[in-house]
Amino acid sequence: SPAARDRLRIAIQKSGRLAEPARALLASCGLSWRESRDRLFCYGETLPVDLLLVRDDDIPGLIADGVCDLGVVGRNVLREQDGERRAGGRASAFREWRALGFGGCRLALAVPEAWDWRGPAQLAGKRIATSYPALLSAWLAEQGVDAQVVLLSGSVEIAPRLGQAEAICDLVSSGATLAANQLKATTTLLESEAVLAGPVDAFDDVRGELAELLLRRLDGALRIRHSKLLLFQAPRQVLPDLLPLLPDAETPTVMQLDGGDGVALQALCHGAVTWQRLEELKRAGARGLMVLPVEGMLA
Ligand code: ATP
Ligand code: MG
Repeated sequence: SPAARDRLRIAIQKSGRLAEPARALLASCGLSWRESRDRLFCYGETLPVDLLLVRDDDIPGLIADGVCDLGVVGRNVLREQDGERRAGGRASAFREWRALGFGGCRLALAVPEAWDWRGPAQLAGKRIATSYPALLSAWLAEQGVDAQVVLLSGSVEIAPRLGQAEAICDLVSSGATLAANQLKATTTLLESEAVLAGPVDAFDDVRGELAELLLRRLDGALRIRHSKLLLFQAPRQVLPDLLPLLPDAETPTVMQLDGGDGVALQALCHGAVTWQRLEELKRAGARGLMVLPVEGMLA
Protein backbone atom coordinates (compact mmCIF):
# COMPACT_ATOMS: atom_id res chain seq x y z
CA SER A 1 0.00 0.00 0.00
CA PRO A 2 1.18 3.56 -0.74
CA ALA A 3 3.47 5.31 1.73
CA ALA A 4 1.72 7.52 4.26
CA ARG A 5 1.79 11.21 3.43
CA ASP A 6 0.34 14.28 5.04
CA ARG A 7 -0.41 16.09 1.79
CA LEU A 8 -2.76 15.09 -0.99
CA ARG A 9 -1.28 14.87 -4.49
CA ILE A 10 -3.57 15.16 -7.52
CA ALA A 11 -2.39 14.36 -11.05
CA ILE A 12 -3.92 16.42 -13.85
CA GLN A 13 -3.15 16.73 -17.54
CA LYS A 14 -0.28 19.13 -18.22
CA SER A 15 -1.69 20.34 -21.51
CA GLY A 16 -4.61 19.20 -23.62
CA ARG A 17 -8.36 19.12 -23.43
CA LEU A 18 -8.68 18.40 -19.72
CA ALA A 19 -5.86 20.60 -18.41
CA GLU A 20 -7.65 23.93 -18.00
CA PRO A 21 -11.08 22.70 -16.90
CA ALA A 22 -9.47 20.38 -14.32
CA ARG A 23 -7.50 23.24 -12.81
CA ALA A 24 -10.48 25.58 -12.89
CA LEU A 25 -12.68 23.02 -11.14
CA LEU A 26 -10.11 22.41 -8.40
CA ALA A 27 -9.60 26.17 -8.02
CA SER A 28 -13.37 26.58 -7.61
CA CYS A 29 -13.02 24.22 -4.62
CA GLY A 30 -10.81 26.84 -2.97
CA LEU A 31 -7.44 25.36 -3.87
CA SER A 32 -4.56 27.54 -5.01
CA TRP A 33 -0.97 26.71 -5.84
CA ARG A 34 2.53 28.04 -6.19
CA GLU A 35 4.09 26.79 -9.41
CA SER A 36 7.56 25.28 -9.44
CA ARG A 37 10.10 26.45 -12.00
CA ASP A 38 9.78 23.29 -14.10
CA ARG A 39 5.98 23.71 -14.04
CA LEU A 40 5.41 20.03 -13.37
CA PHE A 41 4.59 20.38 -9.71
CA CYS A 42 2.28 22.93 -8.11
CA TYR A 43 2.55 23.32 -4.35
CA GLY A 44 -0.81 23.75 -2.61
CA GLU A 45 -1.06 26.99 -0.66
CA THR A 46 -4.57 27.27 0.80
CA LEU A 47 -4.73 23.54 1.55
CA PRO A 48 -2.07 20.81 1.56
CA VAL A 49 -3.23 19.61 -1.85
CA ASP A 50 -0.52 19.58 -4.54
CA LEU A 51 -0.80 19.08 -8.29
CA LEU A 52 1.39 17.01 -10.54
CA LEU A 53 1.12 17.96 -14.24
CA VAL A 54 1.51 14.93 -16.47
CA ARG A 55 0.31 13.22 -19.66
CA ASP A 56 -3.19 11.90 -19.22
CA ASP A 57 -2.12 8.34 -20.06
CA ASP A 58 0.19 8.32 -17.02
CA ILE A 59 -2.50 9.22 -14.51
CA PRO A 60 -3.99 5.77 -13.73
CA GLY A 61 -0.51 4.28 -13.31
CA LEU A 62 0.57 7.08 -10.96
CA ILE A 63 -2.45 6.30 -8.77
CA ALA A 64 -1.80 2.55 -8.97
CA ASP A 65 1.81 3.09 -7.87
CA GLY A 66 0.81 5.43 -5.06
CA VAL A 67 2.83 8.29 -6.55
CA CYS A 68 -0.36 10.35 -6.75
CA ASP A 69 -3.47 10.02 -4.62
CA LEU A 70 -6.10 11.27 -7.05
CA GLY A 71 -6.24 12.24 -10.71
CA VAL A 72 -8.45 13.93 -13.27
CA VAL A 73 -8.61 11.80 -16.39
CA GLY A 74 -11.02 10.69 -19.09
CA ARG A 75 -13.16 7.69 -18.19
CA ASN A 76 -11.99 6.21 -21.50
CA VAL A 77 -8.35 6.18 -20.33
CA LEU A 78 -9.23 4.90 -16.87
CA ARG A 79 -11.41 2.03 -18.14
CA GLU A 80 -8.93 1.07 -20.85
CA GLN A 81 -6.05 0.82 -18.41
CA ASP A 82 -8.16 -1.03 -15.88
CA GLY A 83 -9.16 -3.44 -18.66
CA GLU A 84 -5.51 -3.94 -19.60
CA ARG A 85 -4.58 -4.67 -15.98
CA ARG A 86 -7.34 -7.18 -15.56
CA ALA A 87 -6.68 -8.84 -18.92
CA GLY A 88 -3.12 -9.29 -17.62
CA GLY A 89 -4.44 -10.98 -14.48
CA ARG A 90 -3.84 -8.03 -12.16
CA ALA A 91 -6.38 -6.61 -9.73
CA SER A 92 -7.95 -3.17 -10.21
CA ALA A 93 -5.76 -0.48 -8.64
CA PHE A 94 -7.90 2.62 -9.25
CA ARG A 95 -11.53 3.49 -9.74
CA GLU A 96 -13.81 6.38 -10.69
CA TRP A 97 -14.68 8.52 -7.66
CA ARG A 98 -16.76 11.23 -9.37
CA ALA A 99 -17.92 12.15 -12.86
CA LEU A 100 -16.91 15.75 -13.47
CA GLY A 101 -19.21 16.91 -16.26
CA PHE A 102 -16.63 18.12 -18.80
CA GLY A 103 -14.51 16.50 -21.53
CA GLY A 104 -17.56 14.66 -22.80
CA CYS A 105 -17.05 12.30 -25.75
CA ARG A 106 -17.82 8.72 -26.69
CA LEU A 107 -15.76 5.76 -27.73
CA ALA A 108 -17.47 4.60 -30.89
CA LEU A 109 -17.05 2.13 -33.66
CA ALA A 110 -16.81 3.81 -37.07
CA VAL A 111 -17.04 2.23 -40.48
CA PRO A 112 -16.61 3.57 -44.05
CA GLU A 113 -19.53 5.79 -45.09
CA ALA A 114 -20.16 3.42 -48.00
CA TRP A 115 -20.94 0.51 -45.68
CA ASP A 116 -24.54 -0.44 -45.14
CA TRP A 117 -24.27 -0.96 -41.37
CA ARG A 118 -26.30 -3.92 -40.15
CA GLY A 119 -24.67 -4.59 -36.79
CA PRO A 120 -21.58 -5.99 -35.04
CA ALA A 121 -21.70 -9.34 -36.85
CA GLN A 122 -20.58 -7.48 -39.95
CA LEU A 123 -17.16 -6.98 -38.34
CA ALA A 124 -16.33 -10.68 -38.31
CA GLY A 125 -12.94 -11.28 -39.91
CA LYS A 126 -12.31 -7.54 -40.32
CA ARG A 127 -9.42 -5.45 -38.94
CA ILE A 128 -10.36 -2.68 -36.53
CA ALA A 129 -7.80 0.04 -35.69
CA THR A 130 -7.89 1.54 -32.20
CA SER A 131 -5.92 3.02 -29.30
CA TYR A 132 -8.32 1.23 -26.94
CA PRO A 133 -7.50 -2.47 -27.42
CA ALA A 134 -8.80 -3.62 -24.04
CA LEU A 135 -12.18 -1.91 -24.35
CA LEU A 136 -12.57 -2.98 -27.99
CA SER A 137 -11.56 -6.59 -27.29
CA ALA A 138 -13.95 -6.81 -24.35
CA TRP A 139 -16.78 -5.44 -26.48
CA LEU A 140 -16.03 -7.81 -29.38
CA ALA A 141 -16.01 -10.76 -26.98
CA GLU A 142 -19.33 -9.60 -25.53
CA GLN A 143 -20.79 -9.42 -29.03
CA GLY A 144 -19.33 -12.82 -29.91
CA VAL A 145 -17.55 -11.29 -32.91
CA ASP A 146 -14.16 -12.54 -34.05
CA ALA A 147 -12.29 -9.54 -35.50
CA GLN A 148 -8.65 -8.46 -35.51
CA VAL A 149 -7.70 -5.56 -33.25
CA VAL A 150 -5.00 -3.35 -34.79
CA LEU A 151 -3.30 -1.22 -32.14
CA LEU A 152 -2.41 2.33 -33.24
CA SER A 153 -1.29 5.03 -30.84
CA GLY A 154 -2.58 7.95 -32.91
CA SER A 155 -4.20 9.04 -36.19
CA VAL A 156 -6.53 6.09 -35.98
CA GLU A 157 -9.04 7.74 -38.30
CA ILE A 158 -6.78 7.51 -41.35
CA ALA A 159 -6.12 3.77 -40.91
CA PRO A 160 -8.88 2.68 -43.33
CA ARG A 161 -7.56 5.01 -46.06
CA LEU A 162 -4.05 3.66 -45.52
CA GLY A 163 -5.31 0.11 -45.83
CA GLN A 164 -4.34 -0.78 -42.25
CA ALA A 165 -7.89 -1.65 -41.20
CA GLU A 166 -11.46 -1.78 -42.45
CA ALA A 167 -13.03 -0.08 -39.42
CA ILE A 168 -11.92 1.94 -36.40
CA CYS A 169 -12.84 2.34 -32.76
CA ASP A 170 -12.03 5.84 -31.57
CA LEU A 171 -13.20 8.83 -29.52
CA VAL A 172 -15.84 10.96 -31.18
CA SER A 173 -17.29 14.26 -30.08
CA SER A 174 -18.74 16.14 -33.08
CA GLY A 175 -18.06 13.50 -35.72
CA ALA A 176 -16.31 16.08 -37.94
CA THR A 177 -13.01 14.15 -37.96
CA LEU A 178 -14.82 10.98 -38.98
CA ALA A 179 -16.69 12.76 -41.78
CA ALA A 180 -13.42 14.26 -43.06
CA ASN A 181 -12.15 10.69 -43.39
CA GLN A 182 -15.30 9.30 -45.05
CA LEU A 183 -16.21 7.33 -41.94
CA LYS A 184 -19.44 7.20 -39.95
CA ALA A 185 -19.98 6.35 -36.30
CA THR A 186 -22.13 3.33 -35.51
CA THR A 187 -22.26 1.71 -32.08
CA THR A 188 -21.07 3.51 -28.92
CA LEU A 189 -18.85 1.36 -26.70
CA LEU A 190 -18.46 3.89 -23.89
CA GLU A 191 -19.90 7.28 -22.95
CA SER A 192 -16.98 9.21 -21.51
CA GLU A 193 -16.24 12.41 -19.62
CA ALA A 194 -13.52 13.61 -17.27
CA VAL A 195 -13.62 11.85 -13.91
CA LEU A 196 -11.92 12.14 -10.57
CA ALA A 197 -9.99 8.89 -10.21
CA GLY A 198 -8.69 7.52 -6.95
CA PRO A 199 -7.53 4.30 -5.33
CA VAL A 200 -9.94 1.40 -4.88
CA ASP A 201 -9.81 1.76 -1.08
CA ALA A 202 -10.06 4.85 1.10
CA PHE A 203 -6.92 6.47 2.55
CA ASP A 204 -6.07 5.46 6.08
CA ASP A 205 -4.12 8.58 7.08
CA VAL A 206 -4.71 12.35 7.06
CA ARG A 207 -5.19 12.20 3.30
CA GLY A 208 -8.58 10.61 3.95
CA GLU A 209 -9.82 13.77 5.69
CA LEU A 210 -8.37 15.98 2.96
CA ALA A 211 -10.04 13.86 0.28
CA GLU A 212 -13.37 14.03 2.15
CA LEU A 213 -13.13 17.81 2.39
CA LEU A 214 -12.29 18.06 -1.29
CA LEU A 215 -15.13 15.75 -2.32
CA ARG A 216 -17.66 17.77 -0.32
CA ARG A 217 -16.51 20.98 -1.97
CA LEU A 218 -16.40 19.28 -5.36
CA ASP A 219 -19.98 18.06 -5.00
CA GLY A 220 -21.05 21.61 -4.17
CA ALA A 221 -19.13 23.01 -7.13
CA LEU A 222 -20.55 20.40 -9.52
CA ARG A 223 -24.04 21.00 -8.28
CA ILE A 224 -23.98 24.74 -8.88
CA ARG A 225 -21.99 24.59 -12.08
CA HIS A 226 -25.04 25.45 -14.16
CA SER A 227 -27.12 26.89 -11.34
CA LYS A 228 -28.45 30.43 -11.10
CA LEU A 229 -30.29 32.31 -8.42
CA LEU A 230 -33.53 33.69 -9.80
CA LEU A 231 -35.21 36.64 -8.09
CA PHE A 232 -38.52 38.29 -8.96
CA GLN A 233 -41.70 39.76 -7.59
CA ALA A 234 -45.28 38.79 -8.40
CA PRO A 235 -48.85 39.14 -7.13
CA ARG A 236 -49.45 36.29 -4.69
CA GLN A 237 -52.39 34.93 -6.69
CA VAL A 238 -50.23 34.09 -9.75
CA LEU A 239 -47.85 31.86 -7.76
CA PRO A 240 -49.69 28.70 -8.85
CA ASP A 241 -48.97 29.68 -12.48
CA LEU A 242 -45.34 30.56 -11.83
CA LEU A 243 -44.13 27.60 -9.79
CA PRO A 244 -44.66 25.02 -12.57
CA LEU A 245 -42.29 27.12 -14.68
CA LEU A 246 -39.52 26.36 -12.16
CA PRO A 247 -39.35 22.54 -12.20
CA ASP A 248 -35.57 22.58 -11.75
CA ALA A 249 -35.65 24.90 -8.74
CA GLU A 250 -35.13 23.97 -5.12
CA THR A 251 -38.07 24.90 -2.88
CA PRO A 252 -38.28 28.68 -3.46
CA THR A 253 -38.18 31.24 -0.68
CA VAL A 254 -41.33 33.41 -0.81
CA MET A 255 -41.36 36.69 1.10
CA GLN A 256 -44.29 39.02 1.74
CA LEU A 257 -43.76 42.50 0.28
CA ASP A 258 -44.56 45.53 2.43
CA GLY A 259 -48.25 46.46 1.83
CA GLY A 260 -50.44 44.94 -0.89
CA ASP A 261 -50.55 41.28 -1.87
CA GLY A 262 -47.22 41.12 -3.65
CA VAL A 263 -44.49 38.59 -2.89
CA ALA A 264 -40.78 38.44 -3.65
CA LEU A 265 -39.52 35.06 -4.70
CA GLN A 266 -36.02 33.61 -4.63
CA ALA A 267 -35.27 30.29 -6.30
CA LEU A 268 -32.07 28.35 -6.96
CA CYS A 269 -32.48 26.92 -10.48
CA HIS A 270 -30.29 24.03 -11.54
CA GLY A 271 -31.23 24.13 -15.23
CA ALA A 272 -30.46 26.79 -17.82
CA VAL A 273 -32.21 30.08 -17.13
CA THR A 274 -32.73 31.24 -20.70
CA TRP A 275 -34.29 34.43 -22.03
CA GLN A 276 -37.22 32.32 -23.13
CA ARG A 277 -37.84 31.14 -19.57
CA LEU A 278 -37.66 34.69 -18.26
CA GLU A 279 -40.17 35.80 -20.88
CA GLU A 280 -42.55 32.98 -19.94
CA LEU A 281 -42.31 33.93 -16.27
CA LYS A 282 -43.01 37.54 -17.17
CA ARG A 283 -46.07 36.56 -19.22
CA ALA A 284 -47.29 34.57 -16.21
CA GLY A 285 -47.08 37.69 -14.02
CA ALA A 286 -43.52 37.87 -12.68
CA ARG A 287 -41.92 41.34 -12.45
CA GLY A 288 -38.40 42.62 -11.87
CA LEU A 289 -36.78 39.36 -12.88
CA MET A 290 -33.13 39.03 -11.98
CA VAL A 291 -30.69 36.17 -12.62
CA LEU A 292 -27.63 35.97 -10.36
CA PRO A 293 -24.58 33.72 -10.60
CA VAL A 294 -23.95 31.38 -7.69
CA GLU A 295 -20.41 31.46 -6.37
CA GLY A 296 -20.51 28.66 -3.88
CA MET A 297 -22.78 26.21 -2.14
CA LEU A 298 -22.37 23.82 0.75
CA ALA A 299 -25.24 21.41 1.22
P1 ATP B 1 -1.61 13.92 -23.48
O1 ATP B 1 -0.53 14.74 -24.08
O2 ATP B 1 -1.89 14.35 -22.06
O3 ATP B 1 -1.40 12.44 -23.62
P2 ATP B 1 -3.85 13.49 -25.29
O4 ATP B 1 -3.55 13.97 -26.67
O5 ATP B 1 -3.78 12.03 -25.01
O6 ATP B 1 -2.94 14.33 -24.28
P3 ATP B 1 -6.34 15.02 -25.33
O7 ATP B 1 -6.52 15.02 -26.80
O8 ATP B 1 -6.05 16.31 -24.65
O9 ATP B 1 -5.30 13.92 -24.84
O10 ATP B 1 -7.68 14.37 -24.72
C1 ATP B 1 -7.79 14.14 -23.37
C2 ATP B 1 -9.16 13.54 -23.10
O11 ATP B 1 -10.17 14.44 -23.53
C3 ATP B 1 -9.50 12.26 -23.81
O12 ATP B 1 -8.92 11.13 -23.22
C4 ATP B 1 -11.01 12.25 -23.69
O13 ATP B 1 -11.40 11.75 -22.42
C5 ATP B 1 -11.38 13.73 -23.76
N1 ATP B 1 -11.99 14.14 -25.04
C6 ATP B 1 -13.11 14.89 -25.17
N2 ATP B 1 -13.42 15.08 -26.46
C7 ATP B 1 -12.50 14.45 -27.18
C8 ATP B 1 -12.28 14.29 -28.57
N3 ATP B 1 -13.08 14.82 -29.48
N4 ATP B 1 -11.20 13.60 -28.97
C9 ATP B 1 -10.34 13.10 -28.08
N5 ATP B 1 -10.51 13.19 -26.73
C10 ATP B 1 -11.58 13.87 -26.29
MG1 MG C 1 -2.68 10.97 -23.88
